[in-house]
Amino acid sequence: MQALTNRVKVVDRKPMTFGEKIYLPAVFKGMSITFSHMFRKKPTINYPEQRRQFSPVFRGLHVLNRDEEGRERCTACGLCAVACPAEAITMEAAERKDGEEHLYREEKYAARYEINMLRCIFCGLCEEACPKDAIYLSETFTPSNYSRKKLVYAKEDLLIPNVLTEADDLAKARGL
Ligand code: SF4
Ligand code: SF4
Repeated sequence: MQALTNRVKVVDRKPMTFGEKIYLPAVFKGMSITFSHMFRKKPTINYPEQRRQFSPVFRGLHVLNRDEEGRERCTACGLCAVACPAEAITMEAAERKDGEEHLYREEKYAARYEINMLRCIFCGLCEEACPKDAIYLSETFTPSNYSRKKLVYAKEDLLIPNVLTEADDLAKARGL
């Protein structure tokens, strides 16, 4: 049959030699490769018992930060959402009421703040865009999950524990 292009490959149909027919040389060659790997240094580790040293520029799970008085730093300006190339961040702003000064640092705060971890590419642009030092990417992995919905993290999942009222949780979160 006439070929339509000149990319035709002619298959070499040489008859198999005796050594190829008994397969043993190929089996021994394969096993020698396997055994040679048994004596090399293992590239894997026994996670989670063993953990690797993170790179100084590692970007992990997001944390919404508080100030030294335990107040939420985020002022719901939306700059992180605008900077996010994956459109993973959504929020709703609310106005601080009288008596809530101990909860929110600014007059406006995020009543709802969500990050869709299925979209996030951990680029860190949200952290760079934030003028309030309110969001940063920690050295913690985002835990896996069986449900897609549970990978949309709400503000409660992202907020760092309060230094004044949840000191133990904060120490745990910081790995102390
Ligand atoms: S790390 Fe990047 S992709 Fe993830 S939420 Fe921040 S800006 Fe968006
Ligand atoms: S995290 Fe920062 S950039 Fe994002 S809304 Fe809050 S204050 Fe603005």
